[in-house]
Amino acid sequence: MKFVLVSGGVISGIGKGVIASSTGLLLKTIGLKVSAIKIDPYMNIDAGTMAPTEHGEVFVLNDGGEVDLDLGNYERYLNVTLTRENNITTGKVYQKVIDKERKGEYLGKTVQVVPHLTNEIQDWIERVARIPVDDTNEEADVCIIELGGTVGDIESAPFIEALRQLRRRAGKNNFLQIHVSLVPVIHGEQKTKPTQAAIKDVRSAGLAPDLIACRCSAALEKATTDKIAMFCQVEPEQVIGVHDVNSTYHVPLLLEQQKLLTQLTDILRLDQITVKKELF
Ligand code: ADP
Repeated sequence: MKFVLVSGGVISGIGKGVIASSTGLLLKTIGLKVSAIKIDPYMNIDAGTMAPTEHGEVFVLNDGGEVDLDLGNYERYLNVTLTRENNITTGKVYQKVIDKERKGEYLGKTVQVVPHLTNEIQDWIERVARIPVDDTNEEADVCIIELGGTVGDIESAPFIEALRQLRRRAGKNNFLQIHVSLVPVIHGEQKTKPTQAAIKDVRSAGLAPDLIACRCSAALEKATTDKIAMFCQVEPEQVIGVHDVNSTYHVPLLLEQQKLLTQLTDILRLDQITVKKELF
């Protein structure tokens, strides 16, 4: 199983969900099976009790799960059917750990955020990533994990630690991270400082983004890409521009034009899966 983590910095609401869905769609075009998990670091068990005026539509899944609207995006982009377990919230994982504690499953241990909650998050992701999401009933090859909120929030800290550990658990070539950042345009100039700060934050949390997706009102200028590459210690190819488009269904094309699939294939060794599929 391969994992693609889509995280975000600077501010929320800049298009992480659309980038996560579009990445999944591109992976499907090369014949891979793709599943998706959304992590929402809030205490609510699910989105069913949250005001749509504040939080957007409550998406209702086939199994009756009332979840974040991003799961609606995944189902539409990827043509899959997800379960309520594909949406992990702080409330859900705490409930699971507390239920286990009451049953005495920790055998007298002090139950802590690290390792008990963080292990529960990793086990949850690994288990749910394997649930078949289409009518072939086969396990997915890749699971997209979108982490809600921004890295640095107190709320997301246990999830970030769990994902840092999951990268190790998954092993080399099985985990890739796309960090979504914002490039504001001030007085006509594309500003890179928020992205530099966001990358510093995510690295200090122990994560190492492989690709930096920069949301900007206009296409990224070459000088902007070079500056981000230089100050964030990555190659210019690892900086992907995602500018404003009329329809978010154009975002997969925008990513493909910047060779996202080639990068995903190289880092995750996806050719090993696609070649095997061709043999059978
Ligand atoms: P996040 O997951 O970061 O909260 P979303 O993916 O939900 O953000 O996107 C937030 C809003 O921005 C949505 O209304 C979405 O349609 C819009 N959006 C995202 N990407 C683009 C883009 N490239 N161009 C125009 N609008 C976009």
